[in-house]
Amino acid sequence: MTTITGIAALRARLDTERAAGRTVGFVPTMGYLHAGHASLMTRARAETDVVIVSIFVNPLQFAAGEDLAAYPHDLAADTAMAQAEGVDVLFVPTEAEMYPDGVVHTSVRVMQVSAGLEASTRPTHFDGVATVVAKLFAIVGTCRAYFGEKDFQQIAVVRRMVRDLSVPVEVVACPTQRDPDGLALSSRNSYLLDAERAVAPVLHAALLAGRMAIDAGEVNPAKVRALMADLISAEPLAHLDYAEVVDAATLQTVDPLAGELRLLAAARFGRARLIDNIGAEV
Ligand code: AMP
Repeated sequence: MTTITGIAALRARLDTERAAGRTVGFVPTMGYLHAGHASLMTRARAETDVVIVSIFVNPLQFAAGEDLAAYPHDLAADTAMAQAEGVDVLFVPTEAEMYPDGVVHTSVRVMQVSAGLEASTRPTHFDGVATVVAKLFAIVGTCRAYFGEKDFQQIAVVRRMVRDLSVPVEVVACPTQRDPDGLALSSRNSYLLDAERAVAPVLHAALLAGRMAIDAGEVNPAKVRALMADLISAEPLAHLDYAEVVDAATLQTVDPLAGELRLLAAARFGRARLIDNIGAEV
């Protein structure tokens, strides 16, 4: 595995690989890698010839007061995990390499799917995500890019951006990896105190309860929302941001519930703001 920090060096390497007829698999991350990230690398390794993982904590997607400065990092452990997963190139640009002027005058905004849900508490988040992913795709070039369903709205934003801008990237969505008690793996789980970690699976449990209600015939979205919200709010250490059920493709409210649905929730546990989602069908 080669670690590359420069944009020009990465382009040169990947252009050479593609010229030789090899396909590129790309896994963008913010580091502090866990088994969720590893599952994306495994999939990329199985489906493409040259696997590249990027580690970049993108300041554009953090608002003032969020956890940018505190975001966990461990490059030695990340390097070991990427190596063990058979990754070919680890791309670790500095902030100066990515944003040499210190400011960015270009912003990519994806309408509609960027609204609501995460944007209700993080209104500028997806502009930052779409901008850095567009930049990373411009750097990496033609590839298959692997994203986790844990960040379901993010995948919708990236897919729409790729489609609208004719970016030569195929977006591949991979299932959420969880601890045995249901908690979705997340770099931010490291913020949880023991008591918070013990109750954090309530997020997944509430989503499962919402799906059970739908499976039992509930088609009123307000009832499903309230059921999930009540379960999360009943936990004193959990502070609910939202519990929603939406159309899985458009992320818009559907009433009565019909077709492919997605149940999504976000809550704060101490310093950690955690998100999760699962699918359902009527
Ligand atoms: P992050 O480092 O949090 O920006 O995540 C990088 C990529 O890993 C994103 O595509 C995430 O959706 C994905 N990811 C994060 N957590 C998980 C998980 N528990 N299971 C599967 N993919 C994940």
